[in-house]
Amino acid sequence: MSQADSIFTKIIQGDIPADIIYQDDDCICIKDIQPQAPTHLLVIPKKPIPCLAQATEQDHALLGHLMLRVGDIARHCGVEEAFRVVINNGADAGQTVFHLHLHILAGKAFSEGSLV
Ligand code: 5GP
Repeated sequence: MSQADSIFTKIIQGDIPADIIYQDDDCICIKDIQPQAPTHLLVIPKKPIPCLAQATEQDHALLGHLMLRVGDIARHCGVEEAFRVVINNGADAGQTVFHLHLHILAGKAFSEGSLV
């Protein structure tokens, strides 16, 4: 499957349905289809960057945009007091969709000091 054909590109193009929480010219936020927390959202750039490590200086503003929208979306969903943001980079790190995305996870207690 080419990068342009990622499942998230198909969602962005409207070819596959998703629960869309937010979108603008540069990104979309959807509910994860297999939530791992009461709130589990994905913030996805419309540009199909395969993974964080393949972002370049040209993506500087886009990466900042994604982080700022994460905060807005957390506020919108009422979870701004406690949420976790996860980016999996590479298959060994758990990445299964090779189109950059930020997980927003909230609504459960995460272990203090534990990232895994
Ligand atoms: P990754 O493992 O790449 O970090 O995260 C990919 C995420 O995308 C997973 O949490 C998975 O549940 C979610 N996902 C995969 N396919 C779909 C889909 O078709 N729709 C939605 N909404 N989420 C998906």
